[in-house]
Amino acid sequence: MGERPAAFLEVNGVSAGYNRVPIVKDVTIQVGLGEIVLIMGPNGAGKSTLVKSVIGELPALTGDLKLDGKGITSLGEEDRVMQGIGYVPQVRDVFPPLTVQENIEMGGYGFKGADLKEREEEVYGLFPQLTRYRKRQARTLSGGERKMLGIARALMTRPRLLILDEPTANLAPLIAEKVLQGIVAAGADQGRAVLLIEQRVSLGLGVASWGYILTDGQLRMEGSADELRAIPDLGKLFLGRGNAHELATEKAGK
Ligand code: ADP
Ligand code: MG
Repeated sequence: MGERPAAFLEVNGVSAGYNRVPIVKDVTIQVGLGEIVLIMGPNGAGKSTLVKSVIGELPALTGDLKLDGKGITSLGEEDRVMQGIGYVPQVRDVFPPLTVQENIEMGGYGFKGADLKEREEEVYGLFPQLTRYRKRQARTLSGGERKMLGIARALMTRPRLLILDEPTANLAPLIAEKVLQGIVAAGADQGRAVLLIEQRVSLGLGVASWGYILTDGQLRMEGSADELRAIPDLGKLFLGRGNAHELATEKAGK
């Protein structure tokens, strides 16, 4: 219990925010190869902000980041992609007017010929249901299919670290489960490191092996999925939509 692989992504004491005002404060997390790591927390906790500092969209105001032991703190977004970071944003994860095939080709921008073909077949192999929609515009896909496409697109670069920001937001529970299973197949089963932000705590803990809880931009708790699942009222304590407010007012002493 609690055994983890060596860290592949290391986030050490990172603070990040907007206009130099930190939202995320002094956060330290790790993700190992073959591991699915979950970040949970109420709306506004800073989960997306943290991820933006990992992909290089936001600078780290303090702390540093390493990938496979190499410092990436000063690298821009493009260079971090080159180093093996793949990212599926919560929204704008596909180009709606383009076809499925075109979206996948965009994900493989820069790759050519047989290499490109091989990558395409690899991602269609992971999401076979996309194969028959190759010529359909992405905007005509269902929510679940569209998210699969967003993931397939991100996998074209063969990232060693795959980051997904709330991939099941707005999906029906059964579809959410299918998408998460697809992530397992596309992620940890392939030996990748996966960092997953998920509001559906029990579904998320069902696929992840380790979890972190973020509230008010700070890390509150971490543990194995089993340890976290065993905490009574975990959702009530930290995660419920209404609880963000409760925690904030409690802290302010109101
Ligand atoms: P989460 O993903 O956990 O819901 P976010 O990281 O999106 O939380 O947001 C954390 C805080 O940062 C919120 O208070 C939000 O209003 C603020 N925030 C998010 N994006 C921006 C932005 N572009 N500019 C300024 N503040 C932002
Ligand atoms: Mg978010």
